[in-house]
Amino acid sequence: ETEPVDKADELTFIALGGGAEVGRSSHIIQYKGKTVMLDAGVHPGYEGFAALPFYDEFDLSTVDILLITHFHMDHAASLPYVLAKTNFSGRVYMTHPTKAIYKWLMQDSVRVQNTHIASSATSGTDGYVNQLFNEQDILNTLPMIQTISFNTTHTHNGIRFTPYPAGHVLGACMYLIEIAGLNVLFTGDYSREDDRHLIPASIPRSVRVDCLICESTFGISSHIPRLERETALMKSITGILNRGGRALLPVFAVGRSQELLLILEDYWARHEEYRKYPIYYASSLARKCMVVYQTYIDAMNDNIRNKFQAAQLAGSGAADGAGNGPWDFQYIRSLKSLERFDDVGGCVMLASPGMMQNGVSRSLLERWAPDPKNGVVITGYSVEGTMAKSIMLEPDTIPAVMTNRNQPQGGLMSKKLGDDKVMIPRRCTVQEYSFAAHVDGTENRKFIEEVNAPVVILVHGEKHNMNRLKSRLLGLQKMKVYSPANCEEVHIPFRQDKTA
Ligand SMILES: [Zn+2]
Ligand SMILES: [Zn+2]
Repeated sequence: ETEPVDKADELTFIALGGGAEVGRSSHIIQYKGKTVMLDAGVHPGYEGFAALPFYDEFDLSTVDILLITHFHMDHAASLPYVLAKTNFSGRVYMTHPTKAIYKWLMQDSVRVQNTHIASSATSGTDGYVNQLFNEQDILNTLPMIQTISFNTTHTHNGIRFTPYPAGHVLGACMYLIEIAGLNVLFTGDYSREDDRHLIPASIPRSVRVDCLICESTFGISSHIPRLERETALMKSITGILNRGGRALLPVFAVGRSQELLLILEDYWARHEEYRKYPIYYASSLARKCMVVYQTYIDAMNDNIRNKFQAAQLAGSGAADGAGNGPWDFQYIRSLKSLERFDDVGGCVMLASPGMMQNGVSRSLLERWAPDPKNGVVITGYSVEGTMAKSIMLEPDTIPAVMTNRNQPQGGLMSKKLGDDKVMIPRRCTVQEYSFAAHVDGTENRKFIEEVNAPVVILVHGEKHNMNRLKSRLLGLQKMKVYSPANCEEVHIPFRQDKTA
């Protein structure tokens, strides 16, 4: 243990983002002269350049390959910047469904940003790209992204890598990376519970993992079981409707919202009494993304595949040939923008962005917050610095960012503070039920124990969560656990005899 280690046998790890925080994930691993970059996200709590990983702290021209785990903004949204605005010259890989959704998400985010600048946006989804690049940059760099299949090994420049299903969202993968005999497993964001549409993550079989790089979003805290959580969620939503209110579910445009739509559709199918309340899915991307979901049925679990096959059989017998697949909803209406929304009476509204920074979900929050009959139901993970995080503290007022721009909002009983800072009273209820599809503390610890790597590097967690998980792991097993901050270089010795 104490004998000096040759520099050549060291694995170097650097988090350019996502180190002791959730957001802007981007990590570098170097071993035997090879460099792999993991993810290229933005931070949802910041804007513009401040939202980027610390790319200036590393020479991106030395990167051989860049592996993207999934399409979420905190893992993929700075990729156009990396490809169009830096000296990066390596290869980029993601799974087929990830690229299909990434393409729509990125284009939409730039358009939303443009609308947001031109007026006060009334449509749109996840406007998080603040002029870091334009739509042409996205289109120009799309051909540079190579798509790969799950469970298939690829090699570039002596680096072998294999994507395995990670649960979480459609297309999400964990990567097993082999450099000169050293095996590194990067989980990205992952989940292991049974889902209505996704295959849960499993341990790559019969592989020795030397180093595990693992998310730590929920630290050591535990989720209540999935079925209980679904029941509680539906009780909360129907409770809001029963008292004559509107239920706002802020969601990321695509991903976990599809799981929530399946839950709601199923509940409405079984409870006729609620069918008088419309369910809206407010996303300009709804239709485009549904096509992706209908295309990649093979990347989903048996529940969806069986429903799809049953619908095809039924459809082939019908005169009109129409089969109602699992993504053809009967009780859910998609809404392209708020201009087409008739706001009368109770309803359930899924609207993006998920953390209510701006856009449709923020507009509706500002409109509905003053009425105590209404309710906000948070189902995703809320990053520090966003409205979704601050509203859980149930503040008396919230700042208006969508309603004070062009016209006075007398009807909102808003109070003018200073020049244009308008505060809106918050009397609606706020509840949280996590359907974010991250492992909880227990699932994560069990996975880490099963992988049984001698070295574990924790990423993607707020500092206190990460440290609590770290001390729990150190108490359990003999392993080295690292929890580096951003830009803190970690040098890990791997002796040749261990990895040969
Ligand atoms: Zn994610
Ligand atoms: Zn994430």
